[in-house]
Amino acid sequence: MLQVRHLVKYFGGVKAVDGVSFEVRAGECVALIGPNGAGKSTCFACIAGQHRPSGGEILWAGQRIDALAPARRLQRGVARTFQVAQTFEALTVLQNLQLLMSTGHGLPAWNVLDRVSVEAATQLLARVGLQQLAHADVLGLPYGAKKRLELGIALAGLGEGAPADPRGQAPSIARPRLLLLDEPAAGLAETERLELMQLVKSLAVEGVAVLYTEHNMDAVFGVADRVLVLIEGQLAAQGTPDEIARHPEVRSRYLGHSFDAEMP
Ligand code: ADP
Ligand code: MG
Repeated sequence: MLQVRHLVKYFGGVKAVDGVSFEVRAGECVALIGPNGAGKSTCFACIAGQHRPSGGEILWAGQRIDALAPARRLQRGVARTFQVAQTFEALTVLQNLQLLMSTGHGLPAWNVLDRVSVEAATQLLARVGLQQLAHADVLGLPYGAKKRLELGIALAGLGEGAPADPRGQAPSIARPRLLLLDEPAAGLAETERLELMQLVKSLAVEGVAVLYTEHNMDAVFGVADRVLVLIEGQLAAQGTPDEIARHPEVRSRYLGHSFDAEMP
């Protein structure tokens, strides 16, 4: 379980995150929503390790992680994607995953990369729906496929699809995993967005704790088990999608009074 307690983050005089507390349990898909500049990305960066919090505590699986480097957090099962697609564009889709899956054994020489973790990387590609594009260069990928690859890369970082180690133990099994997705469906058209969100949701159903930000309400209502609303660095509300859709302050400050969670 992720526990965020009284999280505070200043940038100079700007209080980007101002005393935020919440939890995300294994198997839960939780949306963090709120206006631009509310502090969503800053929260993520504090949890994943790109920013050091100015105050408060972050616990994962019962242990403080807020002073650990991102790589150490990843070893403990905390992975994130970024709002802007971050991939190796000169490599193919499959090679991007092979590269990540091989880093546990040291970075391979480019000429052997194609023989590394082929089966596991191929399985992971299929899981994020990219099997048809395995040998396409990332540079020319359609945007929607890049967003799927980002998700695949975050899963590879978590050891998903990793082969059993020589002693026959699969390291990823029963390991707690937290996936932080900053606008995973940003820029996608509605159909593609909803398909991607179903994929995200399926990861939570498998037991991953998922926390994501999103601006499109169709990717929040109907997907998230729980919604957190951040406004001006503070948690204005949290609850089920239904509770949030009816919350007077959330409606007046963010969703708008005419908001209808039943929209298509
Ligand atoms: P959101 O993701 O909800 O749009 P952010 O977390 O990106 O919001 O930003 C919250 C506030 O913190 C904004 O006022 C933003 O300008 C400020 N901020 C974010 N990152 C930095 C940074 N690296 N340096 C200075 N100010 C920042
Ligand atoms: Mg943001």
